[in-house]
Amino acid sequence: MKRNDLTLAVIVLIVGCPWLFAAQADTIETAQGPLKITPIKHASLMLEFQGKVIHIDPWSQGDYSGLPKADVIMITDIHGDHMDPAKINEVKKSGTVIVAPAAVAKTVTEATVFNNGESKTIAGITIEAVPMYNLVRGPSQGKLFHDRGRGNGYVLALGGKRIYISGDTECIPEMKGLKDIDIAFVCMNLPYTMPPAEAAECVKAFKPKIVYPYHYRDSDLNVFANALKPEKGIEVRMRKWY
Ligand code: ZN
Repeated sequence: MKRNDLTLAVIVLIVGCPWLFAAQADTIETAQGPLKITPIKHASLMLEFQGKVIHIDPWSQGDYSGLPKADVIMITDIHGDHMDPAKINEVKKSGTVIVAPAAVAKTVTEATVFNNGESKTIAGITIEAVPMYNLVRGPSQGKLFHDRGRGNGYVLALGGKRIYISGDTECIPEMKGLKDIDIAFVCMNLPYTMPPAEAAECVKAFKPKIVYPYHYRDSDLNVFANALKPEKGIEVRMRKWY
């Protein structure tokens, strides 16, 4: 093999091995120890805190090899990329608490139902369900992809930090009105949710300390990051979700 061929082979190996990046995790210090964040796929992520594992929207298209099973599973909505009963069964164990809106509990019948605005403490973590919905975008005239009240975003309080998971939403007043968010996961993905510029406008309004774009598919994350560049005190963290 010539040297050029060898270089090419190494490049192909690196580019062709998504699992090299699959478990790339961030660790953020809290008042009660580290919070570990593992991006998985699209809307799926895993949080680990004080020995508890939280899977959010576990989805069969993600690579879960080597990941621990869930103490808590949080589901945001009924669409297949959020509610995937086969994957839920795979990541759950005996005693796992499943948190979901009522529309999801019709299918995932063992779920503990949270309606928008409800708050409960589960596994020592305070979880509040918050609205997620479309303002204008939908599959046809007069219809929305996500109707208000059906799905849940979530705000988690743990170790003195408040973490926001947007679910599928446009820039709704309830997102703009969020207070004291340390870490935010904000969606952007047309035609279903919103473009990066709209997501950035919303983030400017509630000013999380750290924001992760997620559930972004083919969105241009540079538009999002550039729009937030002038904002002191908001750190944009781009991670590999695909
Ligand atoms: Zn979605």
